[in-house]
Amino acid sequence: MSTVSQSVAQVIEQFGKLPGIGRKSAERLAYHILRIHKSEALALADAIRDVRENVRYCSVCFNLAEGELCPICSDPKRDSTQLCIVEQPRDLMALEQAAVFRGVYHVLLGRIVPLDGVTPDQLTIEPLIERVRKGTFREIIMATNPTVEGDGTALYISNLLAEFPVQVTRLARGVTTGSVLEYTNKEVLADALSGRQKF
Ligand SMILES: [Zn+2]
Repeated sequence: MSTVSQSVAQVIEQFGKLPGIGRKSAERLAYHILRIHKSEALALADAIRDVRENVRYCSVCFNLAEGELCPICSDPKRDSTQLCIVEQPRDLMALEQAAVFRGVYHVLLGRIVPLDGVTPDQLTIEPLIERVRKGTFREIIMATNPTVEGDGTALYISNLLAEFPVQVTRLARGVTTGSVLEYTNKEVLADALSGRQKF
């Protein structure tokens, strides 16, 4: 017989599935939930439910959106001649916080990692090419992470883009190799954007 109630065991199990949360931390979180005010605990449950029910991917750029379009694609003031390609919505958020890029984005929703079975067709590369085919972009900036897989993904895409009359650039290497965009501070990101180089 288990010494904890089934509900408590369940919440520990669910917390334990979160990234970076081991058994001990899952237990600590579960007991924390039981100690705080009931309304606070239910607000957390509601927030999880709301985000999963209301947030989806933008039909144009695959950023997170609460409607058909994300806030960036629905902003007429954004420069639609510049496109910045990122791996994940959180990379987009990091670049937005650097506040130097006024164009639009395309979120790949991952990067090519053949060893893990992530192939190009699992990313949003096909809709990306369709967007480029429409011919509104003058410059496409590769802002994948400076890792082996991120660089490989950028190279793969730039080969596909070679047939289009568009300039392909990449972030300057102020972002250190191996660092992840979302953890890079905004000054470094701003420099990397303004010092971008021809791919
Ligand atoms: Zn969008």
